Amino acid sequence: MTDWDRMYDCQGDTERVPRLLDQVEREDDAEAWCELRHRLVLEDDWVFPASFAALPRLVRLAGTRGRARELAGAIVRRAGCDHGCEDLLAGCAETISALDGLLDRYLRTRPSDYLPAFRALLGARGQYHWAAVLDDFADDFYPVDCPHCGGETTIAIGGYGRCSAVRDWDLGDVDRRELRPASPEELTGTGRWMYATASRDGEQVLAEGVAHLFGRAECPRCDSVFSIAEEYALANLPSSGDYPSV
Ligand SMILES: [Zn+2]
Repeated sequence: MTDWDRMYDCQGDTERVPRLLDQVEREDDAEAWCELRHRLVLEDDWVFPASFAALPRLVRLAGTRGRARELAGAIVRRAGCDHGCEDLLAGCAETISALDGLLDRYLRTRPSDYLPAFRALLGARGQYHWAAVLDDFADDFYPVDCPHCGGETTIAIGGYGRCSAVRDWDLGDVDRRELRPASPEELTGTGRWMYATASRDGEQVLAEGVAHLFGRAECPRCDSVFSIAEEYALANLPSSGDYPSV
């Protein structure tokens, strides 16, 4: 049984979320879902004890209710933030595993909201960094510091090209160098899984973006070559500060 008395939401409230869960379980009410989302995932960034307490019911509903799947996904995507609920997160292991299977089956249907579901699945697998930053590779920039000379390098992966460059305030991206994507055989770990899943589901732009992101870049300043994903992940680990108080 969940002890809702200590499961506060983004407003410090402990009573509203269980009532809203009852309500959305009875009827797929858009307004109730909207309030529930606002209370459980603040500004698309922060989750709360009530978010984890609600997760089992959301995942049970997620098989038949799209909004439940989306909200459960939004919560697990942010589960790596410094929310102080590690015990609650650990208690959700079975629920998150069920959500993992559900999201994977959903992705196979090639839905229009593929990317949010893909990011939710990254969260369910504990890949919080990529769950937070991965975008659609339409026009994405990843600033990294060259591990050899320390110079800031902009990695661009988008429709107009995939390159490393020095970003100049006046001149734009100068001294562009083509990225060197990883071949499918070279990919390992999360990069390999991300590439394989996106390819399986016909998400070619996403798959190719991942191959570039997990590939290598040449530093325009010192000409050395480094792994983009490694440097980017190192520089952008999920933050532990600035958690909102309620
Ligand atoms: Zn360099």
